[in-house]
Amino acid sequence: MSSVLETGARTAGVLSDGREILYFDDEPGHDRTASDTRDLAPFTPGAELRRDPLTGQPVLIAAHRQTRTVSSAGGDCPLCPSRPGHPTEVPAADYHVAVFENRFPSLGGAVGGRCEVVSFSADHDRSVSGLPADRLTTIGRAWADRTAALSALPGVEQVFVFENRGAEVGATLSHPHGQIYAYPYLPPVQAAVLASARAHRAEHGGCLLCSVVAAEAAGPRVVAATDDFVAYVPEAARWPYEVHLAPLACVPDLAALPGELLPRLMALYGDVLRRFDGLFGDPTAYMACWHQAPVLHRADLSHFYVQMFTTRRAAGKWKFLASSESSAGAFINDVSPEAAAALFRAAGDRS
Ligand SMILES: [Zn+2]
Repeated sequence: MSSVLETGARTAGVLSDGREILYFDDEPGHDRTASDTRDLAPFTPGAELRRDPLTGQPVLIAAHRQTRTVSSAGGDCPLCPSRPGHPTEVPAADYHVAVFENRFPSLGGAVGGRCEVVSFSADHDRSVSGLPADRLTTIGRAWADRTAALSALPGVEQVFVFENRGAEVGATLSHPHGQIYAYPYLPPVQAAVLASARAHRAEHGGCLLCSVVAAEAAGPRVVAATDDFVAYVPEAARWPYEVHLAPLACVPDLAALPGELLPRLMALYGDVLRRFDGLFGDPTAYMACWHQAPVLHRADLSHFYVQMFTTRRAAGKWKFLASSESSAGAFINDVSPEAAAALFRAAGDRS
């Protein structure tokens, strides 16, 4: 069994302000050595980490992000390849997948951790769900590489891979891309899941996710499945249309996934994303979030899952996080998870 990390083409470079850039290609043989012709000031991350004395939860203060680049039309997109006279964040004239440090990060510097941007395609107008199988695998390989590298940084506790797709969920650039936050602390949701996993292990002696995933795989909320992975609407979904995707076996993160399973995982991931587009008959704004095992607590929680959801509740209607959700953290879901699962299954036939 080969590791995800041992295969494929990877080229490393440095941007003009000192940030790292990495290219991951579907196959070897591409020249990605073009240098950044811009004259950027040295990169200095400047966020601040505070802790709410009432809830005990961490909050990042990143006021410098107010000046960051927002929605760009094709012409001045920072993620499109560089053209003569139009240098972007990606110096190469073409690429498959590019990863670089975020120029306007919420983490890094004195706070610790790191923020990276992952561009999924050189083509400004593609979306992840429409990319070919080879490219989905390359994206997974880039995520696995970054998960291993960022987990090894001093103080990092959680490597959170995510994509916000669509202006409705806050994506400031329309080019297909995601981000990776390497947090120097455990975010509140991951901390709550870790506490549940510890309680489950103490009471039942096994992995919480193994138990949840096995029950869901045999239940009425399955959306799609393979021999190794299952996608399901969770029993207590918070969002009207929410899917979780997990390996049946205990795998802590993408870096630990056996290489031969990565294409199958990414194919199912693409399948679920296409179902989101099939739900309402047009491209749906979504968030796709990889909950990988906490770096320092794998003995207690070593099973990753992907959470995908849209903030839509019906065609043309959005679920807003009002007082109960935003202030009390108490979600009220207007759609039964069993009904949502049936719609996701049907959406697969349409897409
Ligand atoms: Zn672009």
